[in-house]
Amino acid sequence: MESSNNLKDNTLISIVVPCYNEEKALTPFYKELVRNIDNIKYCNFQVIFIDDGSSDKTLEIAMDICNKDKRFKYISFSRNFGKEAAMLAGLKASEGKYTVVMDCDLQDPPSLLKEMIETMDLGWSSVATRRCTRAGEPIIRSFFARKFYKIINKISKVDIVDGARDFRMMSREMVDAIISLNEYNRFTKGIFGWVGFDTKWIEYENIERVDGETKWSFFGLLLYGIEGIVAFTTAPLRLASLIGMITSFISFIYIVYTFIKTLVLGIDVPGYASLISFIMFLGGIQLIALGIIGEYISKTYMEVKKRPHFIIKETNL
Ligand code: UDP
Ligand code: MG
Repeated sequence: MESSNNLKDNTLISIVVPCYNEEKALTPFYKELVRNIDNIKYCNFQVIFIDDGSSDKTLEIAMDICNKDKRFKYISFSRNFGKEAAMLAGLKASEGKYTVVMDCDLQDPPSLLKEMIETMDLGWSSVATRRCTRAGEPIIRSFFARKFYKIINKISKVDIVDGARDFRMMSREMVDAIISLNEYNRFTKGIFGWVGFDTKWIEYENIERVDGETKWSFFGLLLYGIEGIVAFTTAPLRLASLIGMITSFISFIYIVYTFIKTLVLGIDVPGYASLISFIMFLGGIQLIALGIIGEYISKTYMEVKKRPHFIIKETNL
């Protein structure tokens, strides 16, 4: 940890807010945020809305807010690039000594900002939040989410905390480290852990979004989970090799058994059922292994193209 900083000198704090179709949530968020940051007198704030290609009035509302309040800025993408890209754009644009990423649906309470800033002031490089309950979430979603964190933490060296939100305040050094990871397939929950730095965790109860709807479908989350695993561990590839070795071994024993049985008892014509079962089983395993390899190749393909993470349509920065 660094030595204590002095925040009494108008330290600049950047707040990065990804927004996608949030016309209903944006105004309540603005009011609640301003009410909180106005109370933190010893800091200056820079709030950056990233309109992630919204198709509703999100951009208009964000621009209105920016006209009213000069602390607010916006970046608007040419289409929807996803929250990962929006966070990256915000972090790149941020100038503050500390930068915080927060959602605009009030699930990340602005009331925690003061405590986060004070904790950073003690010398931490990052203050992260995790929800200790998943209240208000569909049961199946919670179940799979828990399983996902268990599996990824077992097979990957990077620590990915269950219930961790992207609501996190970071020092300039940490933000620069995150930006320096230029991978195309960004799984920020893993990147936060990968870059290291001393992180203080704050827990709070899950809060339901103020208005509008979650952008995550069950299927979307499943794909995101697979992306996370592929981005942070090659264990599935090793698993495929392992399963291959085990099935080869079992097949070898079965070949020896069949050979001896044929020598002793002669040729046994029936056996269609066992034969077809083996063919189907091995075919299945081969396809799974090919699928796993395919996942890694497709990610490599996207990385090799080196496309930009996002395209900015307009901004007032
Ligand atoms: N978001 C975004 N781009 C997307 C999807 C979501 O910028 O493609 C933003 C969204 O506006 C919100 C945050 O990411 O501020 C979290 O999204 P959401 O509340 O839907 O996720 P949840 O809280 O349900 O996990
Ligand atoms: Mg939300």
